[in-house]
Amino acid sequence: MPTVKYQKGDKVMGRWPGSSLYYEVKVLRFDTKSQLYTVIYKDGTELELKEQDIKSAAGFQARSRSRSRSRSRSPGRRRSRSRSPARTSRRSSSRTAAAVAAATTTDSAPSSRRDIKLKDALEVRLSPLMSEAKTEAEPDKNQGRYNLRRRRDDIDAKAVEAKPEQLEEKKVKLVAAPAAALSTPLDFGGKIGAYFWLLFLPVCVLLLILQVKQDDPRLTNFPPPLPPLEAFWDAQALGCVIVWILFQALLYILPVGKLSEGMPLRSGGKLKYRTNGFFAISVSAVAVAAAVYQGVDLTYIHSNFLQLAAATFLISVLLSIYLYVRSRYAAPDQLALGGNSGNVIYDFFKGHELNPRIKDFDLKFFCEMRPGLIGWCLINFAMALAEMKQQHLDAPSHAMILVNLFQLLYVVDGLWNEEAILTTIDLMHDGFGFMLAFGDLVWVPFTYTLQAYYLVNHPNPLSPLALSVIVSLKLIGFYIFRKSNSEKNAFRRNPSDPKLSHLKTIPTATGKSLLVSGWWGVVRHPNYLGDLIMALAWSLPCGFSHLLPWYYMIYFIILLVHRDSRDMNECRRKYGSAWDEYCRTVRYRIIPRVY
Ligand code: NDP
Repeated sequence: MPTVKYQKGDKVMGRWPGSSLYYEVKVLRFDTKSQLYTVIYKDGTELELKEQDIKSAAGFQARSRSRSRSRSRSPGRRRSRSRSPARTSRRSSSRTAAAVAAATTTDSAPSSRRDIKLKDALEVRLSPLMSEAKTEAEPDKNQGRYNLRRRRDDIDAKAVEAKPEQLEEKKVKLVAAPAAALSTPLDFGGKIGAYFWLLFLPVCVLLLILQVKQDDPRLTNFPPPLPPLEAFWDAQALGCVIVWILFQALLYILPVGKLSEGMPLRSGGKLKYRTNGFFAISVSAVAVAAAVYQGVDLTYIHSNFLQLAAATFLISVLLSIYLYVRSRYAAPDQLALGGNSGNVIYDFFKGHELNPRIKDFDLKFFCEMRPGLIGWCLINFAMALAEMKQQHLDAPSHAMILVNLFQLLYVVDGLWNEEAILTTIDLMHDGFGFMLAFGDLVWVPFTYTLQAYYLVNHPNPLSPLALSVIVSLKLIGFYIFRKSNSEKNAFRRNPSDPKLSHLKTIPTATGKSLLVSGWWGVVRHPNYLGDLIMALAWSLPCGFSHLLPWYYMIYFIILLVHRDSRDMNECRRKYGSAWDEYCRTVRYRIIPRVY
């Protein structure tokens, strides 16, 4: 029988794998088979440690004192200093914070409540650092609860909030974790769900397009009749899509506009992005205007909508296959934490490589921001021309103008503030696979344009009152959306920004803080609230005769509710008790007092 040195409940000091730092842990159990102790850190993180990585608390303190006397820079001394709030120096906090941030300021934070096998010291990367940061943030807490104080007074919060430069300074190499160790719970119904979505999403786009093409798209006429297979294929449509994507790619690589830095990666580095989206849409607008002036008939887009969608779908599938294949050869620290289930279909769907690039050409960023988004405006414009043609109008209807202007504003705003996408879930956390490739290239341009498509054959006159209510809604939604997104983006980019110093925050053990006042103190996703109000304003111009133009509103509620819960789970894993504190303080998710 092997001897068990430490018993369940013992408070001992556990070594952080790959370092000489020790942290107070509690023994949960001992596994005789693997000879590993499962221990729990103060922040709730569980790890498995070998006996040699554990020391009794008494022995550790004695050693620590003697080292302290001899003024050595031993880990024991460092630990002993940092564990005492009275002796916590700002310098040591910052140092720790930098180390923590180096390991954690991205999506790499492992679950604080997840067991992680200790096969390799590099597999488990940061929890003790989280513990240390948490310990050092102790003065900020009041009997274990976070103080919600103004940030400028909050020294430890600042210390924990490491500056980006510190990431480079601190050479904590805690990356290169094998992919298997980075798995996060499977989203979207797991492996079975992936099969479903792979089939359902394209079918959904197809049915929506066929439905809106009908003279009477009422629900009782659903499902629409399927056209013959050859109706999907049009070489010219494929050519148009390819030219459009290449044109956007050319604008993207032109050395015009700002080079923005992305959020820190697990490797500690940061990628640079050419954020010249506004330039791209401006040039595209001029090019489209010139083409129309030259006699190009843009109503081709309306009459060949299905073929254009099919061609784009083909491209998105080919792109996804390429992405999946290259993700299999990508280095572990270039992979997203999701999409590594080992199941080909799930990983193909979810996407595995975080930032696939061909040289400096970032495929995910490009697809997210350019061909689909700008294409959406192009299609809307084509629908306005088609409406004039079909209804023999000299100008588009008011409803069509509203839909065009509202959605154009949304896209132009996104491109003007293109840098802000670098702090969103898609860019920071999700791998690039079918889900995003299809979403960006097919779903957005071919379903977000359904309202404009619908109006081509279904006029909906608007009274002045209706017009002003709809415009007001749009402006209110836009204001909330823009302000909240900008606030979070500015805070994530520079937590010490003096303009944000009035905001209250909750420090977290990862080194990042959470905003708990301002927009992010109203609800947990104020940006979703603004987006939903805008979605309402996009559907209202189409009236209430059919459900079809309300598709976006319905879909968007489902999308954002699901996205919110996905984000909640992710943040709970990342931030542990600090997130729970945030949720207790900000009780509603999207709509104040409702949800
Ligand atoms: P968010 O921009 O809301 O990003 C969520 C992240 O923000 C979290 O993971 C967390 O990341 C950080 N965060 C959460 N709470 C706080 C807080 N209190 N303080 C500081 N940081 C916090 O999510 P999305 O990427 O989903 O959305 C971005 C925008 O795009 C939204 O406006 C959304 O409506 C819009 N959108 C539009 C879609 C469309 O089709 N029209 C589709 C999807 C989104 P961390 O802590 O790691 O920084």
